[in-house]
Amino acid sequence: MHPFSYTRVSDTAEALNAGRRGGRYIAGGTTLVDLMRETVERPGALVDISALPLREVTVTKSGGLRIGALVTMTEAAAHPKVHALYPVVSQALELSASPQLRNMATIGGNIMQRTRCTYFRDVSAACNKRDPGSGCAAREGFNRTHAILGTSDDCVATHPSDVAVAFAALEATVHLLGPDGERRVPFADFLLRPGSTPQREQALRKGELITGVEIPALPRPLKSGYLKVRDRQSYEFALTSAAVALHVRGGVIREAKVAAGGVGTVPWKLSAFEQHLVGERPSESLWAAAAEKAADGARPLDHNRFKVELLKRTVARQLRIVGGTK
Ligand code: SF4
Repeated sequence: MHPFSYTRVSDTAEALNAGRRGGRYIAGGTTLVDLMRETVERPGALVDISALPLREVTVTKSGGLRIGALVTMTEAAAHPKVHALYPVVSQALELSASPQLRNMATIGGNIMQRTRCTYFRDVSAACNKRDPGSGCAAREGFNRTHAILGTSDDCVATHPSDVAVAFAALEATVHLLGPDGERRVPFADFLLRPGSTPQREQALRKGELITGVEIPALPRPLKSGYLKVRDRQSYEFALTSAAVALHVRGGVIREAKVAAGGVGTVPWKLSAFEQHLVGERPSESLWAAAAEKAADGARPLDHNRFKVELLKRTVARQLRIVGGTK
């Protein structure tokens, strides 16, 4: 591990000052410490923000929810409001990582976590994300778990977060605080596709701090849930996943929020797909027809062609679970 300084801050002004000087924020540390041990990341200064007052879940004036950046995954998953209003968020969190990690990891850190691409974590391998311009070992290597959507010639790594898929589906907003004040970024714009700059993963400005994630109020009743398909039933990342939320009134789908995980370089919002559902009545044939569109635009690699069909089936199954049939 490389030498670094460590500062524990007690208020946001102190944090922003340290961030402006190039300090790297750390809270639960469940990703960053691993990456520092492996020398994938070598920050010169760590700024521990875990004592900041960002650990509350609150109902917004409009009836949505704001989850503080330092709320742990365990706390968010178990929070009565999260559980009652957005089960898709609770389920995505409960299906992530392990109980020990969920007790330490925070919501802010979760959406900032870096890819699980094995070549990214192997400092002897070519990786444009870790070492821009060095190449992408995954393209010609073993790429079974890699992305089929949103890829570029420079990077095909998936975003590993489950709850980010739920946030993308629900059209959440990321609240930021930086040297220039507060800013709100739609979740769809917060995580960046790799393009030719895979090393740049979030739409963060220098020194900006995530203060929370806001989920908008959605029409009620809203049924939602998260389905994760993986190689083993615990402590494993998604091969495919689906976050689905449906508002059905009078037997007709009025709102549909759907995103897929495990398949995209960012959580994959299925916007065109959602439009296909709105105005229709839940039925087996609707789910099947809609799911056929879930993998539109996919560019599979040598070892992950199976994800195209698996994604369609994952989405169809989760639509059936959440929406039922008449
Ligand atoms: Fe690196 Fe991305 Fe290629 Fe993985 S897929 S080796 S993270 S550039």
